[in-house]
Amino acid sequence: MKSRLLWTLGIVVVLASGVATVVLWPSENTPAPAAAAPSTVVVPASLPRPTAGAPTSAHQEWVTQEAAAALRDQTAGLLAGDFDRFATHAQPGNKTLRAELQRRFRTLRALRVTRFDQRVDGQPFAIAGKPGSWRVVHLADICLVEKDCTVDEAVLDSEWKETATGVELVALKVHDRDSYCFDCSTQPTLFTRPWETTELVAQVGKRTLVAVPLQYRGRLADLSRRAEAAAALADRYKVGSGTVDRYRVFVSDARSERLWYCGYPGSWVAGTAYPTARDRIEVEIHADQLTSSFTDVLLRHELAHVSTLRSNDYYGRRDVWWLVEGMADYVDQQAAGASDRDNKAALHRFLSRHELTTVVVTPPARDATTSDASGRYAVGYYALNCLFQRYGKEPTLAFFQGAIQNGTGMDGASRSAFGKPWPEVDKKCTAQVRNA
Ligand SMILES: [Zn+2]
Repeated sequence: MKSRLLWTLGIVVVLASGVATVVLWPSENTPAPAAAAPSTVVVPASLPRPTAGAPTSAHQEWVTQEAAAALRDQTAGLLAGDFDRFATHAQPGNKTLRAELQRRFRTLRALRVTRFDQRVDGQPFAIAGKPGSWRVVHLADICLVEKDCTVDEAVLDSEWKETATGVELVALKVHDRDSYCFDCSTQPTLFTRPWETTELVAQVGKRTLVAVPLQYRGRLADLSRRAEAAAALADRYKVGSGTVDRYRVFVSDARSERLWYCGYPGSWVAGTAYPTARDRIEVEIHADQLTSSFTDVLLRHELAHVSTLRSNDYYGRRDVWWLVEGMADYVDQQAAGASDRDNKAALHRFLSRHELTTVVVTPPARDATTSDASGRYAVGYYALNCLFQRYGKEPTLAFFQGAIQNGTGMDGASRSAFGKPWPEVDKKCTAQVRNA
């Protein structure tokens, strides 16, 4: 039995136009690393249709069998680009469902889906007041663009109705995020994926997949180009042994940002990095933050989270928040033409109100002012600047890996990467940040 998944939300970059966030892996419930092999579809022995008066469990098993077979057909149609097969088991005459299937089919094809293995999770739920109707939770293990990828399961809901010949699909629904997933093979998957709720068009670059709602299609080529530049920079700061097969960026509109992933993240959030599976982080960027001055900063910051935070178990610790965000801001600032003017102003405002005794600043409160939040980010940024300047790139990345990915603690990571106890390093960098 899986426990409810707890999420730690940390905010990030604060610039005049908004804030970027990363949703962090919880430090509990962490699964073993998942292999990249395609999942195996197990086809059970064929069950006869239950007779009248058979126990509910017999109906559940049979509906599971029939729905699973229908979902296999649906997947085959999707991967073959055959909409008729994708929609074979849809209830005839159900226009709402047909429109939803068409939207989802077009979107997943636009996202270059290469794997969509589906299986039923747990037992179907009888729908009260609708005899012969069932709610089915199913998992889709998905790959986009790449033919193979790490296990990444979306949890989906659907409604089915028994018919004379089997079952038919009546509706596709977003899974209740407060509900359980019984059979997920990887960690937190109770996110609503962008393609579940919104029709998207996408552009694939060398290192990125950028997807936007239809109304922003005119901006797609430009965003793709900018994302490629951000990815090239982020690739120079990979931490850990896992690979980033591709940076996936989903641009949300005002409606979508209330539906995707965890739901509405708050008015101050500009972008978020969501770990959808081990070694897979997706980025959501809010369309209204894509201004001429902020787009590149936001992309660089979020893609830096993708390259530095994979495979890790310790993101959620408050004592490493400054390191996670400082690294993302540091990578952003390595772009040609980047300016730290805003960071400097934010730091000086922060220092005018706080006596800085350590670079280990805690995350801003949820209701923090922009000024307080941006000051904390600035401390993280200048602290990373100090580490890179004093100790060099590779030792600093090793320190980051030790403290954040391996969980050896700041002191253990510092002794291993820098050859010095953490208090000594902290003291030097705190003094340097105070004088930045
Ligand atoms: Zn961040």
